[in-house]
Amino acid sequence: MSAHIIDGKAFAANVRAQVSTHIVAIKAQSGKIPGLAVVLVGEDPASQVYVGAKGKQTVEVGMNSYEHKLPADTSEADLLAIVAKLNNDPNVHGILVQLPLPKHLNSDLVINSIDPAKDVDGFHISNVGLLSTGQKAMVPCTPLGSLMMLRDYHGSLSGMNAVVVGRSNIVGKPMAQLLLGDSCTVTIAHSRSRDLAQICKSADILVAAVGRPEMITGDYIKPGATVIDVGINRIERDGKNKLVGDVHYESAAAIAGAITPVPGGVGPMTIACLLANTLTAFCRANGFDEPVGLTA
Ligand code: NDP
Repeated sequence: MSAHIIDGKAFAANVRAQVSTHIVAIKAQSGKIPGLAVVLVGEDPASQVYVGAKGKQTVEVGMNSYEHKLPADTSEADLLAIVAKLNNDPNVHGILVQLPLPKHLNSDLVINSIDPAKDVDGFHISNVGLLSTGQKAMVPCTPLGSLMMLRDYHGSLSGMNAVVVGRSNIVGKPMAQLLLGDSCTVTIAHSRSRDLAQICKSADILVAAVGRPEMITGDYIKPGATVIDVGINRIERDGKNKLVGDVHYESAAAIAGAITPVPGGVGPMTIACLLANTLTAFCRANGFDEPVGLTA
């Protein structure tokens, strides 16, 4: 058996097209367009690449992009003042502070200073609470993108056994909440879980968000299961740099019913969902109809 490949790149292009179409329609009716502000502190190379890609795609779908690149020694007070200014700017509907922040800055404090209605990363404590109580929230982009692909592939997820490996605030926990919201029976596994392979083998849906290259092999997978590989790991193999997931693709694809590849799976959906969240925030702020199918 060879698994169906869930094509995140094509799916993300479709999400961006839907976002773009919605923006064109609202602009024609109101003259308004959404704006996304991204704040980058310091010169982390991976963050610079992400911020560049976000800015490019933001403009491509028809939004305004505002980039704030600040030196690594920016003080907490200065960063909070910039966030406060963006909170009060009516042209800014989404604010993203790129993580990780330099060590002298308190990430929780900074994230919780963002207006929850503009918190398009969905990391603000209010949005975490809204999501976990089943209320309308801004939902973290990577789990949201994973959920969209699962819904598209399966239709209803109701009653399925889902295992999420990883309990981080940005992927594992919100992913588990979303799957619970779609009536899956959810298990969250982590580094202290006993007999991880056995737990994973109970999953109809297995989400790997571990940060360990190719840790989840075919032995962990129930025949026919759907595997969502969130991991992005840069490794060196045969003298070349390579991007691999948290799942060992070849052995997993031989057992699974469907699988997301790395690259080209969850990764492209993350920025697409950031754009979808910005559009949602814009619609909520202005009383426009929200895009259908682009929220949780
Ligand atoms: P974190 O490091 O914050 O969390 C990793 C989680 O995996 C922790 O809960 C940890 O458990 C668990 N874990 C670590 N080792 C093991 C193990 N041996 N067995 C079981 N569980 C283990 O990572 P993130 O959640 O931020 O990211 C996870 C992966 O997803 C990374 O590869 C990251 O690069 C990728 N990522 C991809 C994105 C995308 O756009 N596709 C976006 C964000 C992340 P414990 O809590 O006990 O320590």
